[in-house]
Order: sequence, then C-alpha cells, then structure tokens
Amino acid sequence: MSASNNKRIYLSPPHMGGNEQEYVRQAFESNFIAPLGPMVNGFEQDFSKFTGFAHCAALASGTAALHIALRIIDVQPGDVVIASSLTFIGSVSPATFMGAEPVFIDSDYKSWNMDPDLLAEAVEYYISKGLKPKAVIPTDLYGQCADYDRILKILEPHGIPLIVDAAESVGASYKGRHAGKGALMAAYSFNGNKIITTSGGGLLASDDEDIISRARWLSQQAKEPEPYYEHKEIGYNYRMSNLVAAVGRGQVEVIPERVERKREIFDFYERELGSCPGISFMPEAEYGKCNRWLTVMLVDAKAFGATPDEIRLALEKENIESRPVWKPMHKQPVFKDNTVFGGKVSEDLFNRGLCLPSGTAMTAGDLQRVAELIKRCGK
Ligand SMILES: *Cc1c(COP(=O)(O)O)cnc(C)c1O
Repeated sequence: MSASNNKRIYLSPPHMGGNEQEYVRQAFESNFIAPLGPMVNGFEQDFSKFTGFAHCAALASGTAALHIALRIIDVQPGDVVIASSLTFIGSVSPATFMGAEPVFIDSDYKSWNMDPDLLAEAVEYYISKGLKPKAVIPTDLYGQCADYDRILKILEPHGIPLIVDAAESVGASYKGRHAGKGALMAAYSFNGNKIITTSGGGLLASDDEDIISRARWLSQQAKEPEPYYEHKEIGYNYRMSNLVAAVGRGQVEVIPERVERKREIFDFYERELGSCPGISFMPEAEYGKCNRWLTVMLVDAKAFGATPDEIRLALEKENIESRPVWKPMHKQPVFKDNTVFGGKVSEDLFNRGLCLPSGTAMTAGDLQRVAELIKRCGK
C-alpha cells in the first residue's frame, strides 16, 4: 500500500482518443462481435495508410506477430535467430517457440539499439561456421528505430531477412519512413501500455502480399478451403477480434497527437532534470524521429546522490510508477547458456536507467510533481 493519497500515476496507461466507443458501438450494432469482420479490415487499412506498408494482418499480440513471422520464413529447430539483447521477452520468445537458438547483440550508446558493428561480427562468425542466421530481429527500443540501413547492408549479401520488432515504435520514423518500413516484415504491439492500445493486440506488416496472406491463413488455424475443416499444416488462433479492432480504429486516428505529447513529456523532463549532476537522457539518433514512448533517464548515482532504484522507491512512496530499463536478455536466467556479442553497454543501461511516467494524459502538474520528487532525491 502506498502512503500517499494521490491518485496513482502509471508508467504509460491507455489513453483513448474519443472515437473508439463509436467504432465499438458500430461493431455491436452489426453483431460482428466474434472474430473478424469489417473493423479488422478497416483497422488493417488504416494502419497500412499510416505506416506506408502495403499489407497488414491484425493479430492477437505483438508476440503472436513475431511468432507468425518466424513461421513464414520457416525457422527450424536449431536455427540461429539474432536479436537485440536490450529488449522485452516478447521479442525473443517466438524464436524459442520455434526451437531456434536466440543469439543476442549488445546495444550501442548512440541509439541504445542493436550495434551494427557487433551484428556484422556475429553474422560473419555464423556464416564462417556454415550456420547462416535465419533472421535478424532488432528491437526499436523505447520508440527509437534501429539503424535499418546499416543492418540491411550487413544482411543483404547473405540474403538474411530483416524482421523489425517495432512493438514500441508506432509513430516513430527512420529517414522519413515509418518505423519498420524497409524490413521484410515488421511486428507492432497494441498492448495496454504501448503508445496506442487496443487493450491487447498486435499486427504484422509487409510489402509482400503473399507474406500477409499467409499470416492471415496461419493465424486462423490454417484451414483448407473446404466446407468441412481440413488441415494440411498446423496454424494458430492468433487473429484480432472485430471488437478489439474497433478500438484500434479510434486509436490510429490519434497516433500523431500521441507522439507529439510523448515528445513534449520527454522535453519537459530533460529541461527540468537534465542539468542535475549525474542525470542524462536517452539520445535521439540523427537518422530518425523517436516516438519517446517512455522517457528514459540515466543516473550516475555518485554524482546525483541517489541510485535509480532509490529514485524508483521514492516515487513509489508517492504512488508514482517508474520502472528499470529492460533487463538484457543475455542476463536472463532462462538464456544463461545463449551466446551474446558484447554485452557491457546494455548492462550499463540496465544498471543506470530508469523509465519515467510518460502517460500522454498526464497533466502539467503531474509532470512537475514527478520532476520535483526526483530532484529531491539528489544531494
Ligand atoms: C510489448 C513488446 C512486445 C510484445 O508485444 P505484446 O503485444 O505484448 O505481445 C515485443 N517486443 C517489445 C520490444 C515490446 O515492447
């Protein structure tokens, strides 16, 4: 229990745009409550239009989208799948569902994303062993795109597909294109705390129509076109429902507003706290525009006078949620035997980082209060 009577400030709670209820009402009225229906098609079209991807399949979650992506490229047990170490488990668990071996790449300080130099080293190493990596899945961390062009330059000579984990980067851009564009496939998440949410949901996007047709097919139990149920291969029950898609249609309309507000929140914290000794913020790489899904700061405990965890606990006492940076995958007990290239950068970011409350409905007063409480933790 918190000692504070203040209403809890969450890290990144849902923020409805206003039209969601109307879309949901339409879904009720048409009785398309059950899976599929016009809202799903509409949501996919809206998302295609927004991202510039030619084809989209709306799915049950971001994790499901990545699972389907790996099925589509036929990942086999024992295959090497390269991923970012500094990410959320949903980025990596699909590789394990397929029996593949996730191999982790450390971050660079410029973007906090997959370090292309270490990726080049890893690709060379596995190619020399005759074990061509089956896919590379960089995460767009906290809404900042990985350096796709540099990554593609490494992958293209070997024909290794790029699948972007864009779960956190809806509304962000890379060299003027929407996050994920340029990859063979990109996976998005609309989980409850993401920049937009459908309560829970995800989507797989590609410019290849066959890929997305296959995604739709696999996500609906791989039923043969017969009046009875016939199956020649195993699929999944991963399709987004029509009700959930109705919420998504309302949310897509407000993505630009949400990105703008997230960026204002970041700027506020940086302005208020950036001059405190020992405090710095996640950089924005010159090649893109971050959606600043979460504002993340780094704390040099000696210079500031408090550790990130002391700050977290001080905020918690005031009923304010903050969270450590993702714990690197190569430090997870479940991956203790997996290979990592580098590792020190993501460990450092994990040790010094703290994600601050970044909800787009936070008031100026809320933000001020959080900043003041953090300042008070310093010496
Ligand atoms: C949220 C997230 C996922 C998983 O998305 P779900 O919709 O929750 O399954 C995957 N990768 C990253 C980096 C995420 O932040």
